[in-house]
Amino acid sequence: MREKGTLILGAGLAGISTAYHLGGSDHLVIEKSDHPGGLCTSEHKGGFTFDQTGHWLHLAREENRALFADLFPDDRVRIERKTHIFSHGVYTLYPFQSNTYGLPPQVVRECVAGFVKALRDTDKSRARENFHEWCMAYLGEGIAKHFMIPYNSKLYTVHPKEMASHWCDRYVPKPTLSEVIEGAVTAPDRKVGYNASFHYPARGGIGEFPKRLFERTDAANYLFNARPTAVDIERRIITLDTGEQVRYRHLVSSIPLRDLLDLVTGPFAPTAKEMAARMQIASVSYLNIALKRPAGHPGHWFYIPEEGFMPYRVGSFSNIHPPLAPAGRGSLYVEYTHRGPFSGTDKLMEESIRLLTAMGIIVDDEEDIDFIDHRCIENGYVIFHREYFDDMAVVSDLFGRHGIHLVGRYGRWTYNAMEDAVSDGRETAKKILSGQGGPL
Ligand SMILES: Cc1cc2nc3c(=O)[nH]c(=O)nc-3n(C[C@H](O)[C@H](O)[C@H](O)COP(=O)(O)OP(=O)(O)OC[C@H]3O[C@@H](n4cnc5c(N)ncnc54)[C@H](O)[C@@H]3O)c2cc1C
Repeated sequence: MREKGTLILGAGLAGISTAYHLGGSDHLVIEKSDHPGGLCTSEHKGGFTFDQTGHWLHLAREENRALFADLFPDDRVRIERKTHIFSHGVYTLYPFQSNTYGLPPQVVRECVAGFVKALRDTDKSRARENFHEWCMAYLGEGIAKHFMIPYNSKLYTVHPKEMASHWCDRYVPKPTLSEVIEGAVTAPDRKVGYNASFHYPARGGIGEFPKRLFERTDAANYLFNARPTAVDIERRIITLDTGEQVRYRHLVSSIPLRDLLDLVTGPFAPTAKEMAARMQIASVSYLNIALKRPAGHPGHWFYIPEEGFMPYRVGSFSNIHPPLAPAGRGSLYVEYTHRGPFSGTDKLMEESIRLLTAMGIIVDDEEDIDFIDHRCIENGYVIFHREYFDDMAVVSDLFGRHGIHLVGRYGRWTYNAMEDAVSDGRETAKKILSGQGGPL
């Protein structure tokens, strides 16, 4: 049996970052596919570069900005976000809650009046009950009705009443009254939210980021085309589908937590399987669209809250970073979420063309579109079910006692971003190297 100080599951950004930050310390990365990068890989076709929908790098932490600058000393770009909402047949600025200018007057009135009413109601304790209550408590009925509820119902495939709300404070902008009023009577030029600007490799797509980080690690520490089939958390032994067993001191997992729980053997297995069965996730079907000419609107990405349109978001790679398409051409991504396997490619294409035409991004699909490819991300958006906190507390206690560290968006079973995957890897490596991280 092989012995390893640290076994890392998954070679996406979180796994690679862990390996990078562990440096020369004894470790092995197990990856089911034949390449590193996970969701941060880019596809190249006919001179176009497509990421797995928009993957724009928001770097709030200095150490991550420094790492990115070190990897891309003179070939990185920083881009100011140009984001819109498309609803009621018009474009408004992001975020919806503080930019209702341009919507029909009755809609603006409902949004502003609802916000004022919510502001007056100082008891915010109900916001903790669920995502719907959070929207009602902090944004009010009008904004909930015209954006938050329909948009998030599409994105997560469940009504916000079915979702916990702990993540909202970080990710959903809470405007002030003066911002809401100013944004109702004029289109102000201000940037709100955690992602007002972002970083990106000058060439090659977002896939260059994990690729360069991977190149700074030792390729001999990776085992590709292998996956775990059982995890004995008490004896700290993992069995691989190659039949091999590996004994570890620390296990760092970036694979979907639901899958890891299903692999647990021993006395905790029944509880782990019960928790895994409660965990739900929305899959993302997306279209890569190559245009014969530039997109008919200069915006970066667009939120589509209305139920009458199937996709929840549209973006333009080439508007954001022109080298992602050949000169004089444009490229788009269109996103749609669903649960489980998806068999409606033709319908998604038709509906996307209808939406893009209504938005003025294309005029005539025959004339404007070169090719469309359908792709699917099986694990896209974690749905924060009601038992989420209780389950996560049990997992954290158990895994904490058995040297298991969860990293990355799916490993931790949460909503976060590429930057968090990098930070998770760094912090976990630090813990391991400093001898913390659970008794043996
Ligand atoms: C639609 C969408 C848009 C996004 N947009 C952005 C954005 O604009 N900006 C941003 O910062 N973030 C964005 N994200 C989030 C970002 O993709 C993630 O935060 C980040 O890629 C997570 O990296 P990771 O290494 O944790 O996971 P992953 O990239 O999923 O890597 C996990 C790795 O584990 C491997 N694996 C899985 N199961 C097994 C198994 N059983 N055995 C062995 N290996 C396994 C996978 O093959 C993969 O390589 C977006 C996510 C989605 C879904």
